[in-house]
Amino acid sequence: MRIFERAFGVFSRKRSYDVNIPMVVRAGSGSIAIGVSDIHQLGSFATTDINKGDLICALRGDVIDFKEVLRRIKKRKVTPDDPLQIDADLFIDLDPASLAFNHSCNPNAGIRARNDLIAIRDIDAGEEITYDYSTTVSCSVAPDAWTMQCRCNSENCRSSICNVKSVPRALLLKYLHMNVLQSYIVDELSDYLEN
Ligand SMILES: [Zn+2]
Repeated sequence: MRIFERAFGVFSRKRSYDVNIPMVVRAGSGSIAIGVSDIHQLGSFATTDINKGDLICALRGDVIDFKEVLRRIKKRKVTPDDPLQIDADLFIDLDPASLAFNHSCNPNAGIRARNDLIAIRDIDAGEEITYDYSTTVSCSVAPDAWTMQCRCNSENCRSSICNVKSVPRALLLKYLHMNVLQSYIVDELSDYLEN
């Protein structure tokens, strides 16, 4: 645990926490452990095989509106990368365990409903669990205001990621088919995805 706490201390994307984070989080069909990531500092890893379609866990934290997100960013309680959007004007200020999931442009998980993290392919024990952050970032709340450099090293890495419109349309349709686009995103993109 001490090693983990030291590692967490250098997790610059994240705030500094004084809470205890469980090393292993039991959730859904298997278990997750937080460890050092090749993508970005700390990440969440499968400790058992997880089947495609299984619930990995629900991402949790304070539910806040955009005004409160801006307030917490201003007070440096969160970085702009941290909150998870779950509706047109609702966000989750993710708890440390939920915050440890990294982005990948070629993820093995996605967000279903509001905050359920679902395996979108079979995940082997030991694999880092990732989702595509852009799928949750509405164009309407803060158009083009959020960008993040990506180091996922996927063949299809977008290098600099931003809101959902930055995801290639074919990939968005794939996510839609897998039911890992939240309803406010589907509503927002309905014309774009149908035409
Ligand atoms: Zn990438």
